[in-house]
Amino acid sequence: AGGLVDAVARALGRADTVRRLEVRANADTPEDAARARRFGARGIGLCRTEHMFLGERRKLVEEMILADSRTARDRALAALLPLQRQDFAGILEAMDGLPVTIRLLDPPLHEFLPDRTALAVRVAAAEARGDLPAARDTQLLAAVNRMHEENPMLGLRGVRLGLVVPGLVAMQVRAIGEAVAERLRAGGDPRAEIMVPLVGDARELSIVGEEVRRVLAEVSEAAGTPVGCPVGTMIELPRAALTAGRIAAEAEFFSFGTNDLTQTTWGFSRDDVEAEFFSAYLDKGVFPASPFETIDRDGVGRLVGIAVAEGRAARPDLKIGVCGEHGGDPDSVHFFHAAGLDYVSCSPFRVPVARLEAGRAALRDTGASDSR
Ligand code: PEP
Ligand code: MG
Repeated sequence: AGGLVDAVARALGRADTVRRLEVRANADTPEDAARARRFGARGIGLCRTEHMFLGERRKLVEEMILADSRTARDRALAALLPLQRQDFAGILEAMDGLPVTIRLLDPPLHEFLPDRTALAVRVAAAEARGDLPAARDTQLLAAVNRMHEENPMLGLRGVRLGLVVPGLVAMQVRAIGEAVAERLRAGGDPRAEIMVPLVGDARELSIVGEEVRRVLAEVSEAAGTPVGCPVGTMIELPRAALTAGRIAAEAEFFSFGTNDLTQTTWGFSRDDVEAEFFSAYLDKGVFPASPFETIDRDGVGRLVGIAVAEGRAARPDLKIGVCGEHGGDPDSVHFFHAAGLDYVSCSPFRVPVARLEAGRAALRDTGASDSR
């Protein structure tokens, strides 16, 4: 076994010296970040923040989204701020010295709001007993009804939520900025980047970008030290890819969200790949492989190509990565290498494979053998 471990380490070392793609990991806890580092990740390409709003914090999220008064919402946001600061401080510490791309909240709303049917049943049951339903239940049900969506994955997600819930973006950015300031004071080397999800138009990004700069200026002033974070965007809607030139004017980096980009390009639900027609399509050869696993070069891949070309034409130093599941798929890694990306980001366990494949892709360019 020692021989094999040595051989793998040698192959990875060789891949690291030749590859042009950086390899980062998708991680959203300090534990995952530390694991990713052990597997050789050079930073976090996607730190999702959704899980940070679940569990005991759900109540605060309900308040924040459903509040009918500004005071109630501000109270919820004020309670979330120190919790978020701690979340980010832990991850920045685990990835000290390496980039950590933190994505602003991107929930499909139905996963965060209380269950509408359960609420309706509770209210109806109380009424049937001749009781007055709990005031909170009635209030929540009205709010949940108001916000109900038939297609949550095409609804109030990503940047859209940030634009309609006042104070949400500011709270997350303040937490990131304060965590950075704290680590700087402790002598660390925090490299947080702020990523905006589900952007479809440059204007969405310019509104958020302005907010980010305003909040970071306040944090810098309070900390007495400059705190700056690059602001970039996910490219995960066909419209974002097709208007990448204008979006790049507002973004310091792009990261392809190929999970959503595949879903929206094909019009297939990423949550229903178990559906019967999906396997029928595989059997009939409509797709050679699941487009959610291996990049679909003819469709999604062309959108990637357009976005890279337009983005770099508008901003030559634009950093470009990918953080969808495809970032750790061997065949897709070769595609991203050829497309000229700067990095792939994948789950910690797939980091070694991505490093190897990125090395093989680079060797193949030079015509050298890539003996495995
Ligand atoms: C994506 O859409 O590819 C992505 C990385 O974001 P998420 O999977 O969180 O939607
Ligand atoms: Mg996405």
